[in-house]
Amino acid sequence: MRPLRVAVVGAGPAGLYTADALRFQKQVEVLVDVLDRLPTPFGLLRYGVAPDHLKMKSLAVTLQRVLDDPGVRFLGNVVCGADVTLDELRDRYDAVVYAFGAAVDRRLGIPGEDLPGSTSATAFVSWYSGHPDRSGPACSLDHPGVAVVGVGNVAVDVARILAKPVDVLRSTDMPDDVLAALERSVVTDVHVLGRRGPAEARFTHKELRELGELDDVDVVVRPDEIALDARAEAAVASDPVLARNVELLRAWSARPPTGAARRIHLRFGLRPVEVLGPDRVVGLRVERCRVENDGTVRGTGEVEQLDVGAVLRAVGYRGTPIDGVPFDERTGTVPTDGSARVLRDGALSPGEYAVGWIMRGPTGVLGTNRADGQDAADALLADAASLRGSRAGADDDLLELLESRGVQVVSTNGWSAIDAAEVLLGGEQGRPRTKIADRDGLLAASRG
Ligand code: NAP
Repeated sequence: MRPLRVAVVGAGPAGLYTADALRFQKQVEVLVDVLDRLPTPFGLLRYGVAPDHLKMKSLAVTLQRVLDDPGVRFLGNVVCGADVTLDELRDRYDAVVYAFGAAVDRRLGIPGEDLPGSTSATAFVSWYSGHPDRSGPACSLDHPGVAVVGVGNVAVDVARILAKPVDVLRSTDMPDDVLAALERSVVTDVHVLGRRGPAEARFTHKELRELGELDDVDVVVRPDEIALDARAEAAVASDPVLARNVELLRAWSARPPTGAARRIHLRFGLRPVEVLGPDRVVGLRVERCRVENDGTVRGTGEVEQLDVGAVLRAVGYRGTPIDGVPFDERTGTVPTDGSARVLRDGALSPGEYAVGWIMRGPTGVLGTNRADGQDAADALLADAASLRGSRAGADDDLLELLESRGVQVVSTNGWSAIDAAEVLLGGEQGRPRTKIADRDGLLAASRG
């Protein structure tokens, strides 16, 4: 019986875990092509996980093993919907798995949001991670104050990178220009703003605790802002992680400042109402708010002005559509039946599956994608008999079609060449790796 041919769109953790689960089982022979719009695999592991989270970054070793499997091909630098249409993919593969993540940021919808100096944490993360689509330093580091809106793990990552002494970051894979900019940074005060109370913050305990372990950084918490109302007390009583977070925040609030060079101010019950200009960010107006019984946030009219030269909104990511792929604008996801099978106009669409953030929204940690990948593989394999019989289209290799169109596809070997070039570049500077941060440089490196 001929093998099942599967295309996975997106070579991040969700896509690669799916490929792994499809190959690991032995009942059905499956050949997998993993496509990515970038010349490099690993998605948010490479361009989202903070460079100083080395343990998390080491997951790349596991994901690389998936690409090293002879039944898995990496086809990088291929834009689905542009270089190849969805119909062309569906003609050539028995099944297509959408694993293209949630690439763009959500917005605040307040005056001044588009002033120079006000940008998304996504852009800042892309910059310090050396994403090839980045444009310049996303955040001006020439003013002592920076506001980070949101109290999720991205906000914590961004605050930590802004506050951490640059010398500690030299052992990471950050591009040279990023290290140089961070070295010139005059930022001393990072204000992280949660509109709700500490019991409703989204950061995880390990990430929060790490802020208190930074050299020469004071974490400043105001006791009045972490006082819990009855609803928050009940939430904390029933959730040990929240309880540990609140306990840590209380400990910080009781600690006198040590006179450290930099401070991270963790603020609660404040929402941004206006980014102040007129020509670039010169401050942020915030309003004290309270959480109503129905969970909504309501302003009290009491305002405060923060002295900041940059505003980074870390208020969550959002998925964007690919031409021809069903998409729910409201949730920013590809609709599924709950078991990774894609719905078109409410009905199951045979041969289409979705995993990871584009399926469930931007929640969970990297490991969550392993379960997603397994679920998608299970659903796809359960459908194997009908999938094999239903494909009417071409049997030619997608690679030939792409090359006939002049697409410079980066293969698994091409990625290995990039990997080797980055390690070499890092070695010359006494670092484990230095990222190549532009698409032309990556493509040149892929050619060896
Ligand atoms: P997130 O966890 O959804 O947090 C978003 C934050 O933005 C929340 O505090 C939210 O507050 C706030 N927010 C949303 N809209 C707002 C508005 N209009 N005004 C003010 N605040 C607003 O998103 P994220 O930090 O981008 O993280 C995305 C996912 O990646 C999460 O699952 C996260 O755990 C994961 N991640 C993990 C790591 C790690 O494991 N180290 C690192 C980075 C990211 P409300 O609750 O009030 O809406």
